Amino acid sequence: MAAKLMVGNWKMNGSLAANASLLSEVLGGMGGVTCRAAVCVPSVYLAQMQSLLAGSAMALGAQDVSAHEDGAYTGEVSATMLRDLAVRYCIVGHSERRQHHGESDLVVASKAQRALAAGITPIVCVGESLAEREAGQTEVVVKRQLAAVIHANGHCISEIVLAYEPVWAIGTGLTATPAQAQQVHAVLRAQLQAATAHAERVSILYGGSMNAANAADLLAQNDVDGGLIGGAALKAPDFLSMLKTASR
Ligand code: PEP
Repeated sequence: MAAKLMVGNWKMNGSLAANASLLSEVLGGMGGVTCRAAVCVPSVYLAQMQSLLAGSAMALGAQDVSAHEDGAYTGEVSATMLRDLAVRYCIVGHSERRQHHGESDLVVASKAQRALAAGITPIVCVGESLAEREAGQTEVVVKRQLAAVIHANGHCISEIVLAYEPVWAIGTGLTATPAQAQQVHAVLRAQLQAATAHAERVSILYGGSMNAANAADLLAQNDVDGGLIGGAALKAPDFLSMLKTASR
C-alpha cells in the first residue's frame, strides 16, 4: 500500500513573506513524517516555492492549469510552464473553479489530459452539492464527473490522483462522516477498477473541512488514501499534526 498523500491547498492566500514563514515552520517540523506531502500554491508564487522546497520532502503543486497547450489565452498558465517550475501535482476541477469559473466536466477532463501529457499528476476533484446530496444524487454526480476524465484519458487514468470533495463540506466546517466518505470513495474505486487494471495505483483523497481533530478517523477508512486540505493547511501546527497522523 502506498504511503498516504496529504496535500495543502492554499487557495488565494499568501504573500512572499507569509509563504516563507509558513513553509519554514512546516518544513522545520517534518521530522518523523513519512507520508507523501505537497502544497498547491497560487501560480505567482510557484517560483518562490520551487526554491524554498528544493531538497525537501514536500512536493510543489499548482491549483489550476489551462486546458490549452499554448497560444492566445491571455492570463492562462500551461502545463508545460508548470513543469518548467518543477510542479509535481496540479489540482483540476476544484469545486470553486467549477462554480465560479463555469468549468464543465469536459474542460476538467482536458485539463487533466494537459497535466498528464506534461508529466504532472492531476488531482482531479469531484463532489456533490448539498442539494444534490439531499436529492439522492451523490453517486450519479461523482460518477458523471469521473467518467468524463476516464473517457478523455484512457489507460493513463491510473496516473491521476482523485479527490472526493463534497461541495457542502468545503470551507464550511461541515465534514463528511468517515462512513459517508468511505461510501463514496468505494464507489469511485469501483468505477476506476472497471476502467483500468491498475486502479489500486490511484490515491483517492478526501477533502472538505479536514482538520487536526477529524483527520485520523477519515484516514482510517479503507479507501481514503489521504487528504486535500484547505483552511487547516494555512496553520503550520495543524498541517503538521495531520501529516503526522497520516504517517502512522
Ligand atoms: C479545499 O479547498 O480543497 C478544501 C478542502 O478546503 P477546506 O479544507 O477549507 O474545506
